[in-house]
Amino acid sequence: MKETMYLRASNPEDIEIAAKILKEGGLVGIPTETVYGLAANALDGEASAHIFAAKGRPADNPLIVHICDVDQLAPLVQEVPESAMKLAEHFWPGPLTMILPKADCIPDSVSAGLETVAIRYPSHPAAQAVIAACGFPLAAPSANLSGRPSPTTAEHVMHDLGGRIDAVLDGGPCAVGVESTVITLATNPPRLLRPGGITLEQLRSVLGEIVLDPAVLHPLASGAKASSPGMKYKHYAPKANVILLDGPRDWYLNYVNTHQEDAGALCFTEDLAELTVPCVAYGTETESAKQAHELFEALRELDDLGVSTIYARCPDQSGVGLAVYNRLIRAAGFEVRKV
Ligand code: AMP
Ligand code: MG
Repeated sequence: MKETMYLRASNPEDIEIAAKILKEGGLVGIPTETVYGLAANALDGEASAHIFAAKGRPADNPLIVHICDVDQLAPLVQEVPESAMKLAEHFWPGPLTMILPKADCIPDSVSAGLETVAIRYPSHPAAQAVIAACGFPLAAPSANLSGRPSPTTAEHVMHDLGGRIDAVLDGGPCAVGVESTVITLATNPPRLLRPGGITLEQLRSVLGEIVLDPAVLHPLASGAKASSPGMKYKHYAPKANVILLDGPRDWYLNYVNTHQEDAGALCFTEDLAELTVPCVAYGTETESAKQAHELFEALRELDDLGVSTIYARCPDQSGVGLAVYNRLIRAAGFEVRKV
């Protein structure tokens, strides 16, 4: 156990302290607009390897490299295709990660032995300030224990990783609430590997044809190779067993109210008054962006209520809703019940 320093992003001296720790090869939880990241020097293989130990992350699951200027992209990859420049122009800085063939400077621990690397330019001012103060890019997966709901506040980071990392930089709650959209440009046509705050519709409006990787919505067939190693694992899950209920509202309400034992509900705001079990809402039925913002906090709250089963109401799958649905089916280990 080490003592985890609590730093404030609003304090310029604390940004310098975070950068100093990172320059010395340490680990710092940093705010981004998606979720909190657990950062290390992306060009230092040993420092980045410590991320896996602190999170309990499988060694074959690569890390996203964070930059604070579009000019930092070229040295990290083999070449910058026109498609990457177009996406950068439209969506960087922001919640979009691009995968490209990697340059030799990317350590094996960061790419998990793959020939490609994932790069993102976050829009959160504190993330940008820390990267700039370091002078090198930061490898940063979500700052949770592997498999658990991603952290959207500094408190969540402390809860999961306090005593295991050097510091956490508190920049307030994350605006988007789910991890970045991940697209690979290493295939032709490009392929969406993980939906997020930048939607498939937005990406298609810039690049044209983009394939939706089947692993976004379905479990990997046994023996199939994952396009993105992270897709293999159960993810985002609270301690309670999550079951996704996909059907009309009345059926959902009745199902939950008649299967009460030790259960809680992850519901929409309009359902709260009609459920007779402990329940937490994650937005109204039509508010996909709010659902994304609230999802992980709501799952953590349901765990705090001590329920053993969580009946989750199935979200709409368009726009940002695709990201919400993708996280929930993984949290549920693909256990979906329909009418
Ligand atoms: P996290 O940083 O915890 O949000 O996870 C990053 C996600 O990006 C994981 O699902 C990884 O498997 C995926 N990823 C990172 N680098 C690559 C890569 N080079 N190729 C495919 N997927 C990647
Ligand atoms: Mg993660």
